[in-house]
Amino acid sequence: MKMIKKVNTYKPLSDFNSAVRKLSSNGIRPTKQRMILAKLLFENGKRHISAEKLYDEVKKDNRKISLATIYNSLKQFSSIGLIREIVVDQNKSIYCTNKEEHYHLYIEDEEKIIDIPKKNIDLNIPQMPACMNLHNVDVIVRIRTLKENIKN
Ligand SMILES: [Zn+2]
Repeated sequence: MKMIKKVNTYKPLSDFNSAVRKLSSNGIRPTKQRMILAKLLFENGKRHISAEKLYDEVKKDNRKISLATIYNSLKQFSSIGLIREIVVDQNKSIYCTNKEEHYHLYIEDEEKIIDIPKKNIDLNIPQMPACMNLHNVDVIVRIRTLKENIKN
């Protein structure tokens, strides 16, 4: 029997490595602090995280990065499309690392975000004027736990 020749399979870049690449291609220097944050963000699968929670993870990892630096880095990362900022209220943003197109379900009283596949929500977007280009659509479906149900 003939041996099957081993084929070199294409290995896609890890989320972390492609994040680092995107930072440098956008002229953002890969400082040690940015690398630590990118590692925490992208080496834990798709996730939604606030600056404060990321700050807790940094501390747990025995690293020192100020909350202000974390805020700035998250803003910077989202400005180049590395992560998505979800403004859940005027004082709070949660950041999403899922790069696929999707919408969000926000459970307000639990401050929890869940991804909704785009196909699950039908939008009727009006025709754009010829000189305009549809850039992005953000949908946040906000829900709350029924308080009466909890008491029973
Ligand atoms: Zn998401």
